Amino acid sequence: MKEILLAKDGEIALKGLNRSTFEDILIRNIRRRLKPVGKFSFSRAQSTIYITPEDEDIDLDEACERLKKVFGIAAFCRVAVLPKEFAAIREGAKEYLYDTLKEAKTFKVNAKRSDKQFPMSSPEIMRELGGYLLSQFPHLKVDVHDPDVTVTVEIREAAAYLYAKKIPGAGGMPVGSSGDALLLLSGGIDSPVAGYMMAKRGIRISAIHFVSPPYTSDRARQKVETLCEELTPYCGKISFFCVPFTKIQEAIKQHCPEELFTIIMRRLMMEIAQRIAEKNDMSALITGESVAQVASQTLRAMVCTDAVCRIPVFRPVIGMDKAEIVAISQKIGTFETSILPYDDCCTVFSPKHPKTRPQLDAVEKAQAQFDFEPLIAEAVENTEIKGIRPDF
Ligand code: ATP
Ligand code: MG
Repeated sequence: MKEILLAKDGEIALKGLNRSTFEDILIRNIRRRLKPVGKFSFSRAQSTIYITPEDEDIDLDEACERLKKVFGIAAFCRVAVLPKEFAAIREGAKEYLYDTLKEAKTFKVNAKRSDKQFPMSSPEIMRELGGYLLSQFPHLKVDVHDPDVTVTVEIREAAAYLYAKKIPGAGGMPVGSSGDALLLLSGGIDSPVAGYMMAKRGIRISAIHFVSPPYTSDRARQKVETLCEELTPYCGKISFFCVPFTKIQEAIKQHCPEELFTIIMRRLMMEIAQRIAEKNDMSALITGESVAQVASQTLRAMVCTDAVCRIPVFRPVIGMDKAEIVAISQKIGTFETSILPYDDCCTVFSPKHPKTRPQLDAVEKAQAQFDFEPLIAEAVENTEIKGIRPDF
């Protein structure tokens, strides 16, 4: 029996005149994600994208797994395509849903008829198909309120579509529909989650990571690249910027008061990140900061970091508890990598007693003790760029 996938738009469906632009981006993203699985063709109608396999032996289970991670899809279904004749729909339902109905105790039939030429009304289809399935699966009972299985028939322009399972999609907006931002990606738990959350709002993510060899190891950098790879099923291709940060950290250690070390380091990270963002047409920065989690994430500390920022800084996990962030990182599959025990440059030279209530003017004064500009320019200049693609 011929099967296709129907993906239902999420929020895109609410967009007025721009809707087709959003749908174009969504289809492009789906096409890329499904390419390794085989050849598909795409069409759309009524807030639904029709995804039709063009090769014989396409693994639709694999296609469904991939679709679950594409932002912009509210839900999708794997459906049987049937001729628009009731006898064919009836027999098709029995055959296609045989195992599902055998295992169920209760069911109901739901019909949607967008093709008004079809001779039966929706209530008639529901009644007739329900009666037929009851006669074929006598153990079943009808339960219209909380059935084990809802058999849905959609009579649309080209054909009738039949399914019993609606699979929740990733929601959100298609990546690439909301502009570009640069994610400050450490090896920790929070920043990959922050990137995932902003990608869900349609932002295309690039990642920037600061390394301080020999204080931080190559494995620590590799870990962050792995985190990028783990984000690609959701975010698509990620440009990875790796900034050599050793000289700057050594200069801070040498020239600034120890208690302000972290806050000055974070201001310099932000400065470098936004220069790279500006150079590459990215409109915002993203961090994994959460209020009060560590000394550099108090409100006062954030005032001091934000003071150097000319572009918006998004902190999507700002109001979340660690446990909530961990739950998302486990769901999206970055947790196991995040907890690998390699040093981040933040932990190198980290002061014993960081100031939790730094004053902006004092921080600015301390930072002004040394001219960081040449080192900043050098770090930007020597930043390595690498494209990390989904692992096809
Ligand atoms: P995470 O779990 O994301 O590492 P964290 O709780 O460990 O966060 P910090 O180490 O204070 O917090 O870092 C706060 C934020 O600064 C991170 O979420 C990340 O966005 C950014 N950041 C920290 N270290 C780096 C780094 N080496 N490279 C790039 N960004 C970093
Ligand atoms: Mg960290």
